Amino acid sequence: MSSEIEKTKVLIIGSGPAGYTAAIYAARAGLNPVLYTGGQPGGQLTITTDVENYPGYPDGIMGPEMMEDFRKQAERFGTQVRYGMVTKVDFSSRPYTVTVDEQKEIIAETVIISTGASAKWLGIESEERLNGKGVSACAVCDGFFFRGQDVAIVGAGDTACEEASYLANICSKVYMLVRREEMRASQIMQKRVMNNPKIEILWNTETDEILGVDEVNGVRVYNNKTGEKRELKVSGFFVAIGHEPNTSIFKETIDMDENGYIKTIPGSTKTNIEGVFACGDAQDHIYRQAVTAAGTGCMAALDAERYLAAVELV
Ligand code: NDP
Repeated sequence: MSSEIEKTKVLIIGSGPAGYTAAIYAARAGLNPVLYTGGQPGGQLTITTDVENYPGYPDGIMGPEMMEDFRKQAERFGTQVRYGMVTKVDFSSRPYTVTVDEQKEIIAETVIISTGASAKWLGIESEERLNGKGVSACAVCDGFFFRGQDVAIVGAGDTACEEASYLANICSKVYMLVRREEMRASQIMQKRVMNNPKIEILWNTETDEILGVDEVNGVRVYNNKTGEKRELKVSGFFVAIGHEPNTSIFKETIDMDENGYIKTIPGSTKTNIEGVFACGDAQDHIYRQAVTAAGTGCMAALDAERYLAAVELV
């Protein structure tokens, strides 16, 4: 290992809207941030198609292209964007040691965690093949493309109920596929879907195959009690079975909730470790939008800048 260990004032982990926005702000503040992209450069938006709800793009933009724009804007002000995966962090004493790809060590005065979350998927072949072609894990992002059409949604938690209700406002019919004979969601959310005439709940129902070649034109489901199969004619298939925050490497040191989302001090991006900030979906299981992630990325950079100014004064 090289004897010269690199040092940086701000190390940003993750390259979704939160990470790149933090980079833009930190770079413009003269902090020369280093950003590691993680395994999916650009984050979750690189697996979506059109983004129509990000302000500033009146005609919409493709997710991957938008993330390219974010990256270019971060680089324009001097962010060093590097491909690599942070595999270990040592927050036991300041400055902090961060290991990249299990080899390279960097000493960071502040760390911004923007590692995001990943949607859980059913794991069937047709779901992967038709992803972005009618299969989606985000009703708020993609529901609009199916306005006036019939769709199906899998899941029975609060997210699935919320998204089913959202879809029912746009689509003509929503089939909700629930694998047990009860829901996990809170009572109030359950009532909302049960009382919605546009939502039909299919209990004990699992997905056999999503039908279609280049686009979704149906789904074959089966009743896991009776084995009975049926085909539903739908053009959109939404998966809402939960998300997994990408936070496992911080487990030992950073305070998290029971689902692994990083806890931040309300009104800030501060974590329980001073000089370590968290933004984007790694700390937000409620809003999960590109624009909210970008907003908290901005907050993280400002928090880091203020923190550095304060410790330099001491
Ligand atoms: P949850 O883990 O709460 O629910 C996941 C749902 O997906 C469960 O109903 C589960 O079924 C189902 N599921 C999991 N795997 C499969 C599968 N392979 N096939 C079919 N169904 C499957 O995730 P959520 O995203 O709904 O919620 C996460 C957290 O966020 C919760 O704490 C929730 O309360 C909170 N939340 C709160 C909101 C609010 O208050 N407005 C809005 C959204 C989320 P099963 O029950 O059978 O295991």
